[in-house]
Amino acid sequence: MRALQMVDTKNQYLKIKEEVDASIQEVLDSAAYIGGKAVQNFSTALNSYIGCKHTITCANGTDALQIAMMALGLKPGDEVITPSFTYIATTEVVALLNLKPVFVEVDAKTFCISPDAIRKAITPKTKAIVPVHLYGHAAPMEEIMAIAKEFNLFVIEDNAQAIGCDYTFSDGTVKKTGSIGHVGCTSFYPSKNLGAYGDGGAIFTNDDVLAERLRMTANHGQKVRYLHDLVGCNSRLDAIQAAILNVKLKQLDHYNGARQKAAAFYNKAFEGISWLTTPYVAEYTTHVYHQYTLIVNGVNRDELSTYLTSKGIPNMIYYPVPGHKQKMFEYLGIDSVELPVTDWLTERVISLPIHTELDNEQLSYITTELVKFKK
Ligand SMILES: *Cc1c(COP(=O)(O)O)cnc(C)c1O
Repeated sequence: MRALQMVDTKNQYLKIKEEVDASIQEVLDSAAYIGGKAVQNFSTALNSYIGCKHTITCANGTDALQIAMMALGLKPGDEVITPSFTYIATTEVVALLNLKPVFVEVDAKTFCISPDAIRKAITPKTKAIVPVHLYGHAAPMEEIMAIAKEFNLFVIEDNAQAIGCDYTFSDGTVKKTGSIGHVGCTSFYPSKNLGAYGDGGAIFTNDDVLAERLRMTANHGQKVRYLHDLVGCNSRLDAIQAAILNVKLKQLDHYNGARQKAAAFYNKAFEGISWLTTPYVAEYTTHVYHQYTLIVNGVNRDELSTYLTSKGIPNMIYYPVPGHKQKMFEYLGIDSVELPVTDWLTERVISLPIHTELDNEQLSYITTELVKFKK
């Protein structure tokens, strides 16, 4: 059996090596190291894949979120409602811009932000909501957009973990996550569903005016060279990464399909195991399994993790400390914030290897050994 890994980018690369290498070589030959054709082509292809009016590429997913918040004109002290149960980048950028992160609860089944919790957290200072499509499962965007409309708030989708996920509205309309909010943000970190071989990110919007502000913000606030109208930053997608992503974008649906197949194998093997809850998929969305995350009940999660590691089965806790308990946010004076669902999940989640290169032998080994932990 091939050694198990949380993600296997190496074997994935080997299958598309020729095309990727040629695409990189083209950039080297063109000497267009910044911007150029590779970035332009990728941005156009991604824009049509996502089904959005504008795609602005940038250096990474964290920058994408920061640029979105800057371009929306959020001001120090404005409140931004976000889940606590997410990767730190989502909430860190809020604090970085001197905005106030307001941590709210997630749904225990979907791991995504709860619309009821959003409603309860709205104050006159609230300006934006940042739903996170955690682990590759969409947040309930239809309800979130309705709340945003009612209270005149911006919605910034953190789509770093869910590129390619399809969201179905109650009228039957289907949209890609990332194209639903006022702004969508994504990351091309190597382990993401659409991963580069380095860093990368992108921002999506259907708003022409906002698109221009996003573009300017990512480029030193300039529209005309050397004329700087806004305070911005320098955040560019590298041309070589764009060349790689150009090849990989064509594989994205296939890659997500492979993740779904691996997830289905796990689900079937864990059927009827009373101490495991397999990932829930709400009726409004597909799941693109950036992570395959179980909830364990009545067994010690950390002992299970140690056991799996001893069997050579990589496993991870995403994330061991939720945002509202991170030291970096102590200055907010949020000791009294109580998020029991978030805390409950934090103690019980465990993620198994999931990627495009898992074969049945590996999956059988993982599932067979895992269920042996408690007979
Ligand atoms: C990966 C990730 C980010 C940040 O992306 P980077 O490219 O690493 O900066 C933001 N939010 C979530 C939910 C992520 O998983």
